[in-house]
Amino acid sequence: MSNSRIPGFYRLSTKERFDIVTKGCNLSENEINSLSGEYPLSMDLADSMIENVIGQIGIPVGVATNFKINGKDTFIPMATEEPSVVAAASNAAKAAYELGGFFTSMSGTIMRGQIQVLNIADPYAARAKIFEHKEEILNYCNEKDPTLVSLGGGAKDLEVHIIPTTNQIMLVIHLIVDTKDAMGANAVNTMAEAVTPTIETITGGKVVLRIISNLADRRLVRARAVFSSEALGGKEIVENIVSAFEFADFDPYRAATHNKGIMNGISAVVLATGNDTRAVEAGAHAYASISGHYKSLTKWEINADGNLSGTIELPMAVGIVGGATKTHPVAQAALKIMRVSTAEELAGCIAAAGLAQNAAALRALSAEGIQRGHMSLHARNLAVMAGADKSDVDRIVAQAIKEKDLRYDRILEITQSIQRGE
Ligand code: NAD
Repeated sequence: MSNSRIPGFYRLSTKERFDIVTKGCNLSENEINSLSGEYPLSMDLADSMIENVIGQIGIPVGVATNFKINGKDTFIPMATEEPSVVAAASNAAKAAYELGGFFTSMSGTIMRGQIQVLNIADPYAARAKIFEHKEEILNYCNEKDPTLVSLGGGAKDLEVHIIPTTNQIMLVIHLIVDTKDAMGANAVNTMAEAVTPTIETITGGKVVLRIISNLADRRLVRARAVFSSEALGGKEIVENIVSAFEFADFDPYRAATHNKGIMNGISAVVLATGNDTRAVEAGAHAYASISGHYKSLTKWEINADGNLSGTIELPMAVGIVGGATKTHPVAQAALKIMRVSTAEELAGCIAAAGLAQNAAALRALSAEGIQRGHMSLHARNLAVMAGADKSDVDRIVAQAIKEKDLRYDRILEITQSIQRGE
């Protein structure tokens, strides 16, 4: 696939879209069956993933088009139950395509594991002792994950934080671990638990919590793109977008919804690739408030040419190995569709999706409002809720849009009248 710009893609049948997107991806039979089939997972596989399995829930996987990322045309698979998300990302990406698309970078693949040590009378002395034994602690951690070490990853450094709480002073050790292409929670937690006796011997304290931090501030992904002012609707809309961003950056009530819109794009790609949506979401929101004030994860400016210049920066703890990324066949198919072969490349695609999503939402809010774009999909949802047959849905949606009335009671009336043959 050399071109992600496919006019009229949304009008094709699901089978036609599937064929275009997966052509040349070398999907296995299992991946094809799972991605296109009614049941994405076998019950045996589902049962091996979580506990007390009794079924599964299907979430649609759509593909956002028009993305060029670091010079490479890329289809972005998005798993979401929310209408308009995939269309919005594709539309915004189109406005950036001719101006070069998205460019991404990553600060590293470093995670932090926290080890909480209590009952220490002299925390500063304990801190010094930990550093004296740094190499011993790191070597011990690395013995627990020879695979990660063989790939150039593993425990690399330590930080020791002294945290005065209301009732006591805690020593909190951060294991700084390069988890490479894995998200790393299991890897880091295993190290943090294993090193407990060594830490207790060195400090004389009592180790209690040992767990990864989702505030992955040494695993930041950054993406930027320029969106054509003309494609967005002109100077006034671009100015409105920038002031919408300023609103979010200064007001946490607005920022929560602004960042939610960004996460519409991000979580959809994280989910499609079998990664941990909660881990990424926790990291994103914690990072948004790292200054002590909850802010926008994106920044929007008008560049010298009068076009809209957008950037995003947030922690992105995602992997292409580990967790469900390797076991879930749809996750594997999603990685092949994006043609990514490292966690860093995947993180870049996710950040680009988040930035595009935000551009689309801000554009709609700054121009006609968010509801217009949602109308037909919303009407469609309501028609299904009202019990409409699949063959009647288009007629019901057309009627509701003609009447400009998306109240559920009216759509129910239209549905029932069609069902009565009126
Ligand atoms: P994992 O333990 O399944 O896989 C990671 C391991 O794969 C590494 O330790 C390494 O030994 C091996 N490996 C093979 N090839 C590798 C490569 N190229 N790069 C890196 N490692 C490679 O998974 P994980 O990534 O350690 O943990 C992720 C899982 O942990 C997710 O399912 C997540 O939901 C879960 N989890 C999250 C949290 C949290 O976020 N707070 C807490 C607990 C568990």
